[in-house]
Amino acid sequence: MKLEGRVAIVTGGGRGIGRHIALILAEEGADMVISDIDPEGISETAEGIRSLGRRALPIKSDVSLVDDVNNMVDRCISELEKVDILINNAGITRDSLIVRMKEEDWDMVLRVNLTGTFNCMKAVTKYMMKQRRGKIVNIASIVGVMGNAGQANYSASKAGIIGLTKSIAKELAPRGINVNAIAPGFIDTDMTISLPEKIREGLLRQIPMGRFGVSKDIANCTKFLVSEDSDYITGQVIHVNGGMWM
Ligand code: NAP
Repeated sequence: MKLEGRVAIVTGGGRGIGRHIALILAEEGADMVISDIDPEGISETAEGIRSLGRRALPIKSDVSLVDDVNNMVDRCISELEKVDILINNAGITRDSLIVRMKEEDWDMVLRVNLTGTFNCMKAVTKYMMKQRRGKIVNIASIVGVMGNAGQANYSASKAGIIGLTKSIAKELAPRGINVNAIAPGFIDTDMTISLPEKIREGLLRQIPMGRFGVSKDIANCTKFLVSEDSDYITGQVIHVNGGMWM
């Protein structure tokens, strides 16, 4: 087990990709805070983590609220003693073409996806700097590099995460902290399952591997980026997309 003795925080861990990441890190030996705005989802994830013999602390927390985030990190330190790994996974979409996009939908997506990622990184950094070790993985998106009609807010937030990742990677590299991003392609989760069948068929035709991704594809890459196997990798965006964008 490559993460024995490590403590991780996974945001948006109540379902989808976040839940898979949490479980795979637990399989590798990590104890964990799982946070989400949905208390039921994180309780279920926590049960799964405990059944693997690991400590799990589910915390209801909204990444867009600084007080929530600081409270989550403080509880992680007081109840699990430290924080070694942060996975910024919480994310939302509010899709529409720009002519119809409401300002509140622009603001909300930027606030959760981009400011939320900043809030969490800022809150853990002082602890990671003190221990001169840490691994941060930010979940971006293929759409942050390709763009996508109807997702101006979402793609801007994910492109912002990529810039944020690279800047903080440069700041924290001398302190022994790795900061990387994963840009998933189209992954079968609640976020994408509701896309109309016609759009799903069109997307599938653009994926050379001929299938949508699954949460495990992202979780496996995350596992690598938080292990010692990736100690010399920082400031990178790893594309996990079946060849859809190269
Ligand atoms: P999902 O199934 O919608 O899960 C997202 C989770 O984040 C949910 O549990 C949600 O809680 C939680 N969340 C939402 N707002 C939050 C907030 N303010 N604070 C804390 N947690 C919050 O999505 P997913 O497909 O697993 O996506 C996970 C990440 O991967 C996201 O960042 C997404 O943008 C990214 N991604 C996904 C795909 C894809 O194809 N699925 C592709 C590229 C990137 P609720 O359950 O209460 O809503």
